[in-house]
Amino acid sequence: MKSNIKENFKCLHCGKHVSAIGNIGTRNRNHCPFCLWSKHVDETKTGDRLSKCGGKMHPVGVTFKKSRDGKWKKAKIGELMLMHICEKCGKVNLNRIAADDDPKEIMKLVKNKSVSEEIKHNVKQQLYGKEIIIQK
Ligand SMILES: [Zn+2]
Ligand SMILES: [Zn+2]
Repeated sequence: MKSNIKENFKCLHCGKHVSAIGNIGTRNRNHCPFCLWSKHVDETKTGDRLSKCGGKMHPVGVTFKKSRDGKWKKAKIGELMLMHICEKCGKVNLNRIAADDDPKEIMKLVKNKSVSEEIKHNVKQQLYGKEIIIQK
């Protein structure tokens, strides 16, 4: 087994110590679970740690990974992703939500913008672990 980079870090934004190890549902923790800010360390893929930028990445919103259910040929709502923008170079990254991210902080990102009720509903469903029902 390759040794993964699982270093603990201190959040650049809120200063809290973040443990990179734990049952968080994702292999690479790259953002703070308390304030959701991240650091620009990945270049092309999550976890590659190839970027030299090191800028602070601002959580700007959420999006859903697109996925399709082949059997039913219907577009499905995929996994909830956090969107970060680097303050230094402007790069946009999408990151998986970790199991211990503060759901209230994630909801704030949704509330701050003119997001449709359907999206808010879907975000809540994913955050609080209920089945996703799309109401039309
Ligand atoms: Zn933080
Ligand atoms: Zn950057």
